[in-house]
Amino acid sequence: MRDELDLPPEEISNLIHEIDRRLANFVARLPDDAAASLDGPGEELLARFAEPPPESGAPVDEVLDFLFEEVIPVSFNAAGPGYLAYVPGGGLPSAGAAEYLAAIVNRYTGVWVAAPAAVELETQAIRWLAELLGMARGALGVLTSGGSVSNLIALVAAREKLLRRDFTRGTLYVSSEVHHSLRKAARVAGLDPALVREVPVDDRFRMRPDALAEIVKADRAEGYQPFFVCATTGTVNTGAVDPLATIADVAEAEKLWLHVDGAYGGVFRLVDELAPLFVGIERADSFAVDPHKGLFLAYGTGLLLVRDIDDLRSAFGGSAPYLPRMQEVGEHVDFCEVTPELSRDWRGLRLWLPLRLHGAGAFRHALREKRELTLRVHDALRSEPDVEIASPPELSLFAFRQRHPGTSIDEENRRNRDLLDRINDRGRIFLTGTTLRGSFHLRVIILHLRTHADRVEEGIEILREELRAARTGIR
Ligand SMILES: *Cc1c(COP(=O)(O)O)cnc(C)c1O
Repeated sequence: MRDELDLPPEEISNLIHEIDRRLANFVARLPDDAAASLDGPGEELLARFAEPPPESGAPVDEVLDFLFEEVIPVSFNAAGPGYLAYVPGGGLPSAGAAEYLAAIVNRYTGVWVAAPAAVELETQAIRWLAELLGMARGALGVLTSGGSVSNLIALVAAREKLLRRDFTRGTLYVSSEVHHSLRKAARVAGLDPALVREVPVDDRFRMRPDALAEIVKADRAEGYQPFFVCATTGTVNTGAVDPLATIADVAEAEKLWLHVDGAYGGVFRLVDELAPLFVGIERADSFAVDPHKGLFLAYGTGLLLVRDIDDLRSAFGGSAPYLPRMQEVGEHVDFCEVTPELSRDWRGLRLWLPLRLHGAGAFRHALREKRELTLRVHDALRSEPDVEIASPPELSLFAFRQRHPGTSIDEENRRNRDLLDRINDRGRIFLTGTTLRGSFHLRVIILHLRTHADRVEEGIEILREELRAARTGIR
């Protein structure tokens, strides 16, 4: 009898070929596709998702056409060159190929003994990044699903190490610009939200280390146990990079765990001219970086680097009689001992293969390109008479608004939201906004694999035209 699931080689080849054919077409069309489809799914499509489970199979063509024609287009186009929204990333084809390879060979990387060479290869990719990104010698880490989970793991490790069982008075410190995942992490880690102390920022939205030191001292005087500070290298609102070296001084003096959230901006340490912004990273206890943003991987790969992997082992280690023996200490890592996960995919391959195939230089060059393109947009907007830039770009992100003198703040916000809608309606670039000190701002972030000078020049023209139309009322 024919095996219904374990397909013969020619049928697998056909399936892959049919996917490849459609993918080639998908990628070729990206430059012409809308930067985002904002219409949402129609009634007819939603009805398809209410269909009952199928008892028998359907033809390959029918299923793939449904995906490529009905499902994939209903979305922000997060694989396209016009995607300048939130924090973009990629869909790097070589990483996608690695994911396919890893899934078919199905190596188990939760424990070292199950696939020691595959685990070592993943550890090597992590070590490469630790070194490229300036962590202390001997730093290791673990690949996660993204920055939110990396931040959570770091916070739990710090809590276990510094507070042990009683954490009712353990305080942690974040800037007012911190990513919301830190507050979520605190809640999930069982910490009262009131224990998350917000440190004010300077006029460029960077954490003020003097204020941090003061708040920590005041807390200690009142019997709290300060244990954790999160600095950010590249905030989501304005791309601000907190002063790492000075924050590290405070962390050292006060014996706080220093976590650095570089989910967006950490990879810019690869660009030589930006390295000065990262002085102090070698003193961090942990550093979260998102390969699915700045290394252009598809969604689903985050990285937590830690100075001492044993801190993660202490927090997440565990054994059971049905599991194989774990490595005791040191460099050979059982990944199930350093995260809440047990079974996991061989996710290291999607980092290792692109680094091995393209070299770190290719990523360095791409990141330098994104930064230079951002400076180009910044210069163009700076020469507009009524544009106010919240803070110049430190990496590849900045926020701006159009001023409308003589109008109320509410009216000005409304007009800037309207400006954003009109820009996005053009379909060539997709921007998102944020609120800074009560004023709505538009954000420009250039970090997409496929965003190059041609799209950026086109985007600048669109920005100029829509700013002029909003200014003069003529369109
Ligand atoms: C994206 C981001 C996060 C969250 O990362 P996910 O991968 O989306 O979970 C955290 N912090 C910063 C600064 C980010 O840019």
